[in-house]
Amino acid sequence: MQNLNFINGLWCQSLSGETLPVIDPATGEIFDEIPRSGAEEVDAAVEAAHAALRAGWLRTSGAYRAGLLRAIASGIQSQADALAELEVRDCGKTITEARYDMGDAVACFEYYATLAEGLDGQQGTPVQVSDPRFDVKLRHEPAGVVGLIVPWNFPLVNAAWKVAPALAAGCAVVLKPSELASLTTLRLARIAEGAGLPAGVLNVVCGLGSECGAAVAAHPGIAKVSFTGGTESGRKVMQARANLVGDLALELGGKSAMIVFDDIDLDHAIEWILMGSMYNQGQVCAATSRVLVQDTIFDALVEKLQRAASGLRVGPGLEASTQVGPLISVAQRDRVARLVRQGVAQGARLLCGGDVPANLETGYFYSPTVVLDVARDNVLWREEVFGPVLCVSRFSNEDQAIELANDSQYGLAAAVLSNDAERRERVARQLVAGIVWANCSGPAFIQAPWGGVKQSGFRRGLGQWGMHEFLELKQITTYNSPDAWGHFNAS
Ligand code: NAD
Repeated sequence: MQNLNFINGLWCQSLSGETLPVIDPATGEIFDEIPRSGAEEVDAAVEAAHAALRAGWLRTSGAYRAGLLRAIASGIQSQADALAELEVRDCGKTITEARYDMGDAVACFEYYATLAEGLDGQQGTPVQVSDPRFDVKLRHEPAGVVGLIVPWNFPLVNAAWKVAPALAAGCAVVLKPSELASLTTLRLARIAEGAGLPAGVLNVVCGLGSECGAAVAAHPGIAKVSFTGGTESGRKVMQARANLVGDLALELGGKSAMIVFDDIDLDHAIEWILMGSMYNQGQVCAATSRVLVQDTIFDALVEKLQRAASGLRVGPGLEASTQVGPLISVAQRDRVARLVRQGVAQGARLLCGGDVPANLETGYFYSPTVVLDVARDNVLWREEVFGPVLCVSRFSNEDQAIELANDSQYGLAAAVLSNDAERRERVARQLVAGIVWANCSGPAFIQAPWGGVKQSGFRRGLGQWGMHEFLELKQITTYNSPDAWGHFNAS
């Protein structure tokens, strides 16, 4: 099946006919192509989205939209196995993790179906004001046409996390998937078409960030942009939106720390450290990339961590036994390798990894890597690596651990491991992050808010907050008194 843009309910090539290659990260081979689109295709998508709103989407009930969201959920469910395999070929993740992703996408559409239904009963809520001659009521109105820009690390899940709440809210969507992994998002559009979503309500335009993504960010016909990606790209999107005074939500990068206190079971700690740092090859915005270990257990933990990390099975994502797959691209693999070399040159000590695994030179593999003695000005401490690379440092007391954890330009997530509930609570409150995990690392729930502070972005996705990101609060104020107002009385 040819991969085409989906605009106004029609499948179409880019206007130039140009395409971008789709590469399997496990082999480095091109196996497909996607359209290379730009500003003109984005214009067409925005126009189609406005036409769909005018044609009636804007006036649909939440209950009606819920029916469509549930149909999309069951469409994903019915193709989940094929979608999971496609996701692995497109972005390299392991088949086990890709299957979780499909389940997450299904659950996301079902969850926002329920929230869309609930929205009908929340319209017209009265607000008590100080003057009884006025009735004030609230309405939650759809923001209008929204631009959704997503990355490649969880392609279908990232799309679902934005598309489902946007449609639940009654918005019309222009969706720009990552040029490195667009295939399952295009399948999502086919599923939405099959589910009966009216033409123009969901448009998918493929292309490069600097061309297609930039056109979405700068489009005056888009009321709101919701962007997930790197902090550098987020800054450019913010500049483009500033020119329009346009609404924006940013979910950006991270450099999340985990604090491990000495009262925790070491095996429990190792499991969550690996979960936080190696899941999806460490290509997770909220990945644990700095582990701070209390000095009393430092040596024992490091010894176990070395054995566990170097024992992880690296290989193609489609092999069932693989625990760590390839990175997304040759550029990403080379960037990770360069940062590790740079970090070591600056004084960090390799505990394990730091190379391409033997027999895996084809494809974009990189060994699970742990580094010690990482100074605060080391590149591996400061920069988001976005690969299977973990820094481990020591601390001696709680205040020092918190200070080290907060020593980052980012503030997406943090974690604390301790058997002392009071200490966990105390530390969690002082960690400067949008998400704090206690005695775990990495779980994301559709019902709970997701997002960061500092240079990790602003606003929250998921949960009820995720849907309200796509709603505007309107007050409707009625003067109900039989008496004249009198201020400019003409008589
Ligand atoms: P990226 O910023 O390169 O690209 C993300 C998306 O933005 C892609 O669709 C890309 O085409 C587009 N884009 C790039 N430049 C753009 C521009 N100037 N204007 C408009 N759009 C543009 O990021 P990536 O490499 O795809 O993803 C990795 C990054 O995403 C990491 O930094 C990671 O931390 C972050 N991320 C954050 C979250 C979160 O929830 N906070 C989730 C996943 C990934």
